[in-house]
This record gives sequence, C-alpha cells and structure tokens, in this order.
Amino acid sequence: MKSVITGGAGFIGSHLVDHLLRRGDDVVVLDNLSTGTLFNLETALRNPRLRFVEGTVLDRSLVHSVIAGADQVYHLAAAVGVKIIVEEPLTSLRTNIHGTENVLEATQSAGATLLLASTSEVYGKNTADRLSEDADRILGSALKSRWTYAAAKGIDESFAHAFWSEYGLQVAIVRLFNTVGPRQTGRYGMVVPNLVGQAQRGEPLTVFGDGLQTRCFSYVGDIIPALVKLAETPDAYGTAVNLGGAEEISILQLARRTISVLDSRSAIRLVPYAHAYAEGYEDMRRRVPDNSRAMALVGFSPSTPLDEVIRRVAGATSHGGHLNEAMTLATPFSHEAVG
Ligand code: UDP
Repeated sequence: MKSVITGGAGFIGSHLVDHLLRRGDDVVVLDNLSTGTLFNLETALRNPRLRFVEGTVLDRSLVHSVIAGADQVYHLAAAVGVKIIVEEPLTSLRTNIHGTENVLEATQSAGATLLLASTSEVYGKNTADRLSEDADRILGSALKSRWTYAAAKGIDESFAHAFWSEYGLQVAIVRLFNTVGPRQTGRYGMVVPNLVGQAQRGEPLTVFGDGLQTRCFSYVGDIIPALVKLAETPDAYGTAVNLGGAEEISILQLARRTISVLDSRSAIRLVPYAHAYAEGYEDMRRRVPDNSRAMALVGFSPSTPLDEVIRRVAGATSHGGHLNEAMTLATPFSHEAVG
C-alpha cells in the first residue's frame, strides 16, 4: 500500500505515519513545516519506506506529483489552532480551502481513496447533548476570523461530498473532537499541553472564562487506528464520521485533574476571555460527540482514560518540551526541499 499523508509532520499526522509504517506501507509525507516539525518524524525518518517532501498543499503541481501513484491519501495539512486562524485569516482560508481542492483533484486523478480530516468546529455553537453527524451547524459572523476555520472546513466537506457524488471519489470525512497526546504543542493555544506544561513548571494554570465550558478529549492513540479503518471502509465513503472522547469535562475540572495527576503545586488562574483572545472571540460552551456511527462502522471505542492521557503528555513534554525547535534546526535528516 502506498499512502500519502499531507500534514504528516504535525501532531496527528506523525502518529499516523508511525502507524502506517509499522504495518508495512510505503509512506510519503507532504508538509510545509509551518506548524509541523521534523522532530515529530525523528524515528520514522530512519525508515527507508518513508519519503518526506517539504512543500505546501497550495502548490497544485507538487500535490499532483506527490499523489500520483498513491493508493490512499490522508489529508491532514491545514492551518490550525486558534492563534493562527485569528492572526493569519487569509493564509488560513487559502490553505484550508484551495489546498483541499488541490488534494481532492489530485486524489481523483490518481484513482486513490481519501481520508479528509475535518473538525468538531464545524458544529460551531451547537451545544446538543450529543452531536450527531447530521446536527445543525451554528456559526457566528463570517466577518469574525474566529469562525473562518469552521467555515473553511465546512466548504472542504461539501467539496469532498460533491467529488464523491459527482465523480465517485472514495472519500471518508472524519470530524476530530479535541484530539490530544504527545507531540501536540501548546504554542498555538491547545489547552492540554498548555496546562500540563504550566503544571510541570509550577506556574498557575490559565483557565479561560469561567472554566465551565466543556470538551471531550480523545487520545491520539485511540483515534489513529479508527482513522485508518475508516479510510478503508466503503460504507464510510461519502459520509462524515465523528471521532471524539467519551468523558465530558469542564476546563476547570481538567485543570484540577492535571494538578492532581501530576502532583503539581500550581494554582489555577481564571483569565477573562478579553485577556486570553483577540477582541470579539467567541468560545464554544460545550462540545460532546455522538460516536455511534464510528462505533457501528469500525468498532471505535475510545479507551484511554484522561488521567493516563495527561501522564503521557507530561512524559513527552519532559523529554522534548522546549528542545523541539532547537533539535529540529540542528537535525541532520536529509529531506527533499521543493519549491
Ligand atoms: N483554554 C484554557 N486555557 C488555555 C487554553 C485554552 O482555558 O491555556 C480553553 C479554551 O478557551 C477552550 C478550551 O480550553 O474553552 C479548549 O481550547 P482548545 O484551543 O484546546 O480547543 P477548542 O477551543 O478548539 O475546543
């Protein structure tokens, strides 16, 4: 099996690379190293079955040449994280819309199957008890950059669905709900690595707003096998599938759990949204997945408890942490630089 992973040097992408190499695939990673890093591929790059191509999904001819001859494509490359979306809305929109269009076209020409990574953000402010895949989307103003990620990903999903219905492209869409684990960085705002890092350094844990907003965190090690199975399940094509965690927890509770699991002496500091984010930012109050479709299609059942996830994130942070960037710059890995 020859698999192409866009965004393969990122947090989720690099775990997917490891998984596919372990089962014997030939893997090509296309990544522009904007938020991804070669440090995430440190072990994988020693495997001769991995080829790394540095470049952007906006480069149409590069995308076509990388995907030609592939059996399956996992499209994970995107501008992600609150910080980037809000501060660089134009680049984010271009990457997340035109980049995906390039990948869809190239996958169609190659006759490959496609797994499109989408996000629970597409549900917007819908606080339903369990968000099923057909739930309504409730988005804020199109002029608030905060919503452009959800808007772009929604367009991506519509594009993918149209490629499926008009051209028969075998594409599965996966909506990821707050995936966490080792290699995720807090640099772009993600809460778990942020809080874990703060607890380890003995700094106050910054909880935004009243801390009563809830999420269902899912462990990357539970998500990856389901992602791969969905990419190879014909009943998943032309549809979207939620993949999220089982436990709903408020961010305040998460901060308390992080402190207790890591035996930290840190305090908790409530930070008003106006200080945490750019003006006009709206947070999501609640986001709970209905995982029953993933369960029915591929037997998905998130099993890693949150305490264990916190421990694993902490273990990875204490080994890598701030070294990541320096090590990447000094890394002797050879890779193909394009464009
Ligand atoms: N958050 C927080 N402290 C932080 C970072 C984030 O309280 O240091 C909050 C954030 O406002 C949101 C939740 O944690 O309510 C999850 O944020 P994240 O950016 O990880 O994911 P998303 O908002 O996309 O669910």
